[in-house]
Amino acid sequence: MAERLKRVGIIGAGYAGIAAAVRLADGGIPVTLFEAGRVLGGRARGVDHQGIRLDNGQHMLLGAYRDTLEMMDRVGVRDAMLRLPLSLSIPGRFALKTPALPAPFHLLLGLLNAQGLPFGERLSAIRFALRLRLMNFRLPQDISVACLLARHRQGGNISRLLWEPLCLAALNTPIDQASAQVFLNVLRDSFSHARSDSDMLLPRSDLSALLPDAAAKLIRGRNGEIRTGCRVHRIESTESGFDLHWPGGSENFSHVICATAPQHALPLLAGLPALAPARESISSMSYQPIATIYLQYPEQVRLPQAMLGMSEGWAQWVFDRGWTHGTAGLLAVVISAEGRHQDVAPEQMAERVAEELTLAFGLPQALWHKVIMEKRATFACTAGVARPDQKTGLKNFYLAGDYTAGDYPATIEGAVRSGVKCAGLVSGSLSPA
Ligand SMILES: Cc1cc2nc3c(=O)[nH]c(=O)nc-3n(C[C@H](O)[C@H](O)[C@H](O)COP(=O)(O)OP(=O)(O)OC[C@H]3O[C@@H](n4cnc5c(N)ncnc54)[C@H](O)[C@@H]3O)c2cc1C
Repeated sequence: MAERLKRVGIIGAGYAGIAAAVRLADGGIPVTLFEAGRVLGGRARGVDHQGIRLDNGQHMLLGAYRDTLEMMDRVGVRDAMLRLPLSLSIPGRFALKTPALPAPFHLLLGLLNAQGLPFGERLSAIRFALRLRLMNFRLPQDISVACLLARHRQGGNISRLLWEPLCLAALNTPIDQASAQVFLNVLRDSFSHARSDSDMLLPRSDLSALLPDAAAKLIRGRNGEIRTGCRVHRIESTESGFDLHWPGGSENFSHVICATAPQHALPLLAGLPALAPARESISSMSYQPIATIYLQYPEQVRLPQAMLGMSEGWAQWVFDRGWTHGTAGLLAVVISAEGRHQDVAPEQMAERVAEELTLAFGLPQALWHKVIMEKRATFACTAGVARPDQKTGLKNFYLAGDYTAGDYPATIEGAVRSGVKCAGLVSGSLSPA
């Protein structure tokens, strides 16, 4: 039996909620999107600092982010990213460049010619890559990335300079805890189909402008409504659907997609007994931080590449936003996951990172800096972590967000895929059986 549709209420305008809203609105289904903050984008949003647009965290996307790229096409912003063939470089230590060959030969040859690794480690990395293909990138049982690397003799420099930085960047979880299966999912999608899947995509605009702002135009143009600064504080299940309550108002919706971060979903789901299993898995999740340290140097400062790796210190990656955002001399340093940097004040963190940059690239003193510490940047993508499904025990009530069930770790792609899936479930519930 087809459901009677009134309107779909979507809570949270991060990439997940926005993806759901775009798909539904584009399909002629009326939506109302509630966002507690003033700007769209959630954990991937633009922020202002001294008249300069920054992001709450420097982001990188991959060519394999199929649904995100489709969504960008749909709202007309696909050229908003700098697309670079995979090239990982830690100046003076390590360099992996992928030649213009079809996948997976680009990776295999890249590994064979990688600089900074003994020949034996390069061969062993190639064997590892081939074995993963033979295994179809599937493990019989999830284990930690550290355990997987040990089993396949990927210790030494190859682990420290390649696999560990890749795991931290993709899963934001230390290798001794990180899910090897999710890591393999990302490797599979990036390296086994088209060469362009492993491309690195760097946003050229701030993250609100990258997708959410253009998406909002499409949503509004298709009879959708977006309410910013509107925090839903209670959800009530009624005979005719769901009442969403916010300070000063409430409204009834036939369908609801809750697309908040996991920790914000918990109190919202409290009044819905059918959501107890989802609440249980969310409650058992832990979180990992990401620090982004912006340092403004004189305009003539320019790194040899838009993105470089760093080793030995706290800084893991440095992005030159002069290459991407036209802000000459502005660097963004990223530190993923937990670590000693959390023990110091932002001021000291910036000083220490600036010293590391001076040492690595001979940079002068920074003119100003800004540290943005996201303490709960992502859920910890640990081995065997239980993630709630988008479809819940409550009819017409769905969960979207980077933490919900899926192949991907907490990423923009994971968020978008979950939103797209929820939109499909809503549409499916409306089609005649
Ligand atoms: C610093 C940092 C760096 C990152 N780097 C990368 C990267 O390089 N590549 C990558 O792919 N991913 C990266 N990520 C992860 C990526 O940003 C997230 O996975 C993604 O943005 C999550 O989207 P979401 O829609 O699931 O959740 P969110 O972005 O958290 O969106 C949820 C929204 O719900 C709103 N909300 C919450 N409660 C309510 C309520 N009660 N009522 C109304 N609204 C509410 C929030 O304000 C928020 O806007 C990074 C994340 C951070 C924090």
